[in-house]
Amino acid sequence: MDISIVIPLFNEDESLTELCAWIERVVTEHQLSYEVIFIDDGSTDFSWNVIEQLRAKNTNIKAIKFQRNYGKSAALNEGFRAAQGEIIITMDADMQDSPDEIPELRKMILEHNYDIVSGWKKKRFDNTFTKNIPSKLFNAAARSMSKIQLNDFNCGLKAYKKKVVKSIEVYGEMHRYVPVLAKWAGFRNIGEKVVEHRARKYGVTKFGWDRFINGFLDLMTIFFVGKFGKRPMHFFGLWGTLSFFAGLSIFAYLTVSKFFFDITGMTQRPLFFFAILSMIIGTQLFLAGFIGELITRNAAERNHYLIEQKIGL
Ligand code: UDP
Ligand code: MG
Repeated sequence: MDISIVIPLFNEDESLTELCAWIERVVTEHQLSYEVIFIDDGSTDFSWNVIEQLRAKNTNIKAIKFQRNYGKSAALNEGFRAAQGEIIITMDADMQDSPDEIPELRKMILEHNYDIVSGWKKKRFDNTFTKNIPSKLFNAAARSMSKIQLNDFNCGLKAYKKKVVKSIEVYGEMHRYVPVLAKWAGFRNIGEKVVEHRARKYGVTKFGWDRFINGFLDLMTIFFVGKFGKRPMHFFGLWGTLSFFAGLSIFAYLTVSKFFFDITGMTQRPLFFFAILSMIIGTQLFLAGFIGELITRNAAERNHYLIEQKIGL
């Protein structure tokens, strides 16, 4: 099979039929053998009924239905596990990504031997303030932390070699960082292609403001897990020791001031307590977050999703 098209969706019933017809048109034109794998991420509209109707007409369409909404990462992860094509294409279901890009993405992998080709929505049709500007900041941060030269990490339209998707696990909200996950797994040949981005025709966006907070927290996680995940002591040990000796020096200084110079006002300043309090709380929170992250990564349940139904798989 030439390509698997993996499409996560959450309440996109209006788009599906049109999207499917478009994909069929493109793959028939290029004579590709294919499968479309829809992952219904707990939709509450008629998405699943629409998928069943589409399947009745075309057996290349396969689908997984989650019992509830687990998020785009979970959906991609299950899609990746089910995919059988030599090249896996992911795209959003809302028709903001154009299926016309598929053959070119595939060609880039075949001819230039890329492990991943990521779409770049150079010209976007989203709200400037809520999406475009924050997205620029986000990409700059992701670039500098991961050292992967991509302009657009979060583009839903990407193409992968089969062995890439079979070697990585997308969990939590890591769908924004699949190229980073792939790089860790040893796939360094990551390309980028400018793709057409279209305005959302039906439905509404499923990601609000919180995606930036989540996105940046995930970026921190990915940075720490990547750099220190296997050697946490190099990070915590260093800063722990530094902070311990800093405390010890301050304590020594306070002692000296008290006994030799009889200065007592130091500890009466509110700022003094505030600084100590925020440092302790900050350290605690950070540690708790990091330890939590290590635990999730090792938990056997981290990628266990209840699947209500499957078609064709
Ligand atoms: N999506 C999903 N599960 C979710 C949220 C979104 O499967 O919990 C799907 C959604 O249906 C769409 C894709 O992920 O196919 C991208 O979502 P959206 O278009 O809302 O994001 P945006 O383009 O606004 O960043
Ligand atoms: Mg979209």
